[in-house]
Amino acid sequence: MQNTALRTPHSEFRTSSRVLVIGLDGATYDVLVPLAESGVMPNIAGLLRTSALATLRSTEPYTTPVAWTSFQTGGDVETHGIFDYRYLDHERGEVLLNHAGRIACPTIFEEIAAAGGGVVSIDLPMTYPPRSDVRGIVVGGLDSPSAQTALAPHPKLAEALRAAGVDYDIKTIWKRKPQSYEELECGVAKTIASFQARVTAAELADGMTDWRLMVVQFQALDSLQHRCWHLLGPLEHVAEDVDARWVAETHRSLRALDDCVGKLLELAGKRDAATVAMSDHGFGDFRAKISVPEVLRQRGLLRLASSWQSVEHRAARWSWKLKKWHVRNFHGCSTAAVRRPLAALAPIDWQRSLAFAVHGELSALVYLSDATRFGSGSISMPRQREQAEADVIAAFQDARHPETGEPLFVDVYSTQRRFDCDPVSRHWPDVVAIPAPGFHTRTKFDDPGRLMLDDATLTGTHRREGVLMINAPPAIPGRRHIADMRDAAPTLLHLLGLPPAAHMTGRPLFNMLGQTGVAETSPWHAPNAPVAEPVLSASEQLVVEQRLRELGYME
Ligand SMILES: [Zn+2]
Repeated sequence: MQNTALRTPHSEFRTSSRVLVIGLDGATYDVLVPLAESGVMPNIAGLLRTSALATLRSTEPYTTPVAWTSFQTGGDVETHGIFDYRYLDHERGEVLLNHAGRIACPTIFEEIAAAGGGVVSIDLPMTYPPRSDVRGIVVGGLDSPSAQTALAPHPKLAEALRAAGVDYDIKTIWKRKPQSYEELECGVAKTIASFQARVTAAELADGMTDWRLMVVQFQALDSLQHRCWHLLGPLEHVAEDVDARWVAETHRSLRALDDCVGKLLELAGKRDAATVAMSDHGFGDFRAKISVPEVLRQRGLLRLASSWQSVEHRAARWSWKLKKWHVRNFHGCSTAAVRRPLAALAPIDWQRSLAFAVHGELSALVYLSDATRFGSGSISMPRQREQAEADVIAAFQDARHPETGEPLFVDVYSTQRRFDCDPVSRHWPDVVAIPAPGFHTRTKFDDPGRLMLDDATLTGTHRREGVLMINAPPAIPGRRHIADMRDAAPTLLHLLGLPPAAHMTGRPLFNMLGQTGVAETSPWHAPNAPVAEPVLSASEQLVVEQRLRELGYME
């Protein structure tokens, strides 16, 4: 295999012909290290001993679709444009699902294809539908409409999985905190089957295509931790009133995950591939949900609909749905051109509200009621916009927990100012606010007056700090470094002897590989323009939204 020359002082740097990435969704050292030490996860223990380690800082917002898109692109939100599972298409007045076609720059899979190589990717979010310039096998993740549609481009793999008796599924396993031991047992059995199905898919795909990069993602780890966080960790770290039998049962799923990691290490060994194990974000205790509309309401930036306006809102929603149905059934054409009236978007007083949020469950994603964006709205002059934006930022900066007085948001910014861009033309929110560790955000506004909301179905949630273990010949085990998500793709390319792509803002992690150096970047590949049309049908969108709801990411 042809390796590109690298301008590093260590000319003896041995590149790998292949790299296998083990995606551990939501993994954290807080769980992995104690379970490795207590013998529940021996393969992870081996990786921790022999790999160069880093605390991997996730993206802001530190959510699954954003972080795995940064993994794919080597850049942050301003590079790829993905802020959430969903985005507001203001031209249509609809909240639509993000998908691989909306990633605004090339991905590592395309970079590898441009260098003549193939890939295998199993269950990675934001890879559906597969992008055209990729070679190999890409099976989409939890944001695909179904396992069947995710596997559809690869009928041979789908058939081989069936023949192997594997029920490859992406349905939600953990819909709430388990209420009984039987419910826990059932969830653990399904989780184990889901982990094993990913490994079988990877082993089968390995026999079907030559690859330079293989990514195998274990999505169920994330939802397991959301619902069973109180049962994870070694027994002495778990609260005293928790039954040891429940903890042991939960550990069975992590032991199975560790077996799967072992099988992938074996596969990597056979193919002489370097191995990288990494999370998209970390995990920690869940505390409460913050009502984003309430933050805005308390500052007078959002006004609730009057009872008459609520009626108007419901009527607008129904008439819009009817109109779409009519167009579809009697004209047989796409309903994409049917514009949804602003009044149908949220039950607020559109004349008097300056800002609102309609999506974003682990960050506040706020839109200004700007006439340049929506055609109508309470903001029409640039000075009004500036003032409203400053007021929204202040509202989140000043938001405090009503009981403890602690700040509820750790970072608040204007997308226009931070990224020097026009958020309207890119379909980006105007203001982004990142909650403090342990807090979710909520956009459904059904309890005005209450800022903090409990959720007994969740016990754990995302943290920014995740894991990165590089198990490759030049990596130096031991010291724990700090790395950023955007550095992953350039580092994987570097291990393969390829330069980072020109659009990548991350850099190869030379320090973890015992090197100092500057990597030359590859020539700029023109990005595919993000797809403007929704690629999922209305019914597919509903299916995926229901899955996100079951996972706790939407209400
Ligand atoms: Zn995740």
